[in-house]
Amino acid sequence: MKVLRDYKCPNGHINERFLDSEIETVPCGQCDSEATRTLGYGTIILDGTDPSLPGAWERWANIREKRHRQTAEKNRRDGKM
Ligand SMILES: [Zn+2]
Repeated sequence: MKVLRDYKCPNGHINERFLDSEIETVPCGQCDSEATRTLGYGTIILDGTDPSLPGAWERWANIREKRHRQTAEKNRRDGKM
């Protein structure tokens, strides 16, 4: 089963990849290190990686936007904005 996941290298680069769920490391796209799979859908840095998967990317962007709205909503409720 293929899943969209973040892989993070020791230098802090986030590599978003749509790969088999069993793959735990990938070569970092921004340096020579090896990126390790992060847990879940934690921290995301939007850098426009992987344009080869527009469908997955679009879906992911929608999730991100939804989450962003929820966060903004929560901040407003908490009086942080
Ligand atoms: Zn790197």
